[in-house]
Amino acid sequence: MRMEQKKLEKRLFGTNGVRGVVGKDMTPALALSIGMALGTMRQGTIAVGRDTRTSGPSLASALKAGLLAAGCDVVDLGILPTPALQFIVREHFDAGAVITASHNPPEYNGVKVVEPDGTEMGDEQSIVLEGHIFKGDSHFASWDRVGRERDAPSMVDEYVNSVVDSFPSDTGKGFLVVADPGCGAAAWTTPEILSRMGCRVFSLNSQMDGTFPGRLPEPSPEGLAPLADLVKATGARFGVAHDGDADRAVFIDDRGRFLEENRQFGLIADFICRERKGVIVTPVSTSRIIEVIAERRGCTVCYTPVGSIYVARTMIDLAHNGTEVAFGGEGNGGLIYPKHQLCRDGGMTAATMVALLASSSQPLSSLVDALPHFYMIKEKIREKDAAGLIERLKKAFSGESLDCTDGIRINREDSWALVRPSGTEPLVRVMVESAFEERATQFYDEIKHHFRD
Ligand code: MG
Repeated sequence: MRMEQKKLEKRLFGTNGVRGVVGKDMTPALALSIGMALGTMRQGTIAVGRDTRTSGPSLASALKAGLLAAGCDVVDLGILPTPALQFIVREHFDAGAVITASHNPPEYNGVKVVEPDGTEMGDEQSIVLEGHIFKGDSHFASWDRVGRERDAPSMVDEYVNSVVDSFPSDTGKGFLVVADPGCGAAAWTTPEILSRMGCRVFSLNSQMDGTFPGRLPEPSPEGLAPLADLVKATGARFGVAHDGDADRAVFIDDRGRFLEENRQFGLIADFICRERKGVIVTPVSTSRIIEVIAERRGCTVCYTPVGSIYVARTMIDLAHNGTEVAFGGEGNGGLIYPKHQLCRDGGMTAATMVALLASSSQPLSSLVDALPHFYMIKEKIREKDAAGLIERLKKAFSGESLDCTDGIRINREDSWALVRPSGTEPLVRVMVESAFEERATQFYDEIKHHFRD
């Protein structure tokens, strides 16, 4: 299936909002100008939240100042996961902004803008917002029109309730699980969700701390070694960990093994699509395991450019056109449950794993081992003329099945390859996947041959 979403060039905003090193690219002055620009574009009441980063309070204050000066009212939700803010905005507010750098190291921070429907702001509107920043033509309200601010730190409860209420009560009864929020935004929410589902919860790194003393915000296999140890030592059903803003969740199985994110996506898609039929939406960089699962469950796959906003926006477009959308997500632990909300949701992913295991007599490790196996090569290669490379590849592989949704994807019967230029560096990302290691290596060599740098 083809997708409609196209990537547009932006100057400040990347695929996940504005991001940079604090005090260098990401400053209170920039946050102020984003607040003023957003307040110029969207009237009404804007929700602001943040993750646990040390630079969060200063950037949030600056962003709020911009919104208030432009005449918007501001509700400060405090520290909460990005999907919690998105849920609350959809239910109550006219837009939102979250101060977060997601999985990036502690010295980074950024701003993600959220639309009234709870989705991240798309490319076209982000370009309008950038225009206000670069032209400096944001609107100042007069003294009698400036906005008012109030705090609402307990609104996060609505998100927790909504996730818990998505499952029958006591779904996790008798379960022992371990949560590692990484001192990030889900430090309270995920342990709370799991325990309200009936699980007995052990947690580590569950204090909010923007110095991230336990591990980096990226939930990597190395950083999750203590979580894996705790899962094994306690005999827990699984361990769950998040990135800094908890829109992603990753898992450790009952044997202490890190569950590769494409396989996690496959396992959860298989569970969701037992009940929900329709399209599974995912970027072109996702493993073919999703196609196998979709076929097994009578569903189809629709590919988008890489980036969660393209997945979410495609899901919305398909639904508007009357197409049933079953599930969505990326091969990095960012999964989208259309029945709940159209954004990546780490808390919902943790809760869904409880429901998945409750529905099976097998441990997570056995379910994972039963999934189809694929061998994947991922490389970043230097290339000054990425556009020229893509043209050469289009010619060289013109007799094959090509998908130019994002870079170039060459689809073969037993393998596929994706070659995708980086938007910011003279680098090209190459991914090759096959059920057979030898086929993947051969295919990779065929592609490598066309690089010139
Ligand atoms: Mg994130």
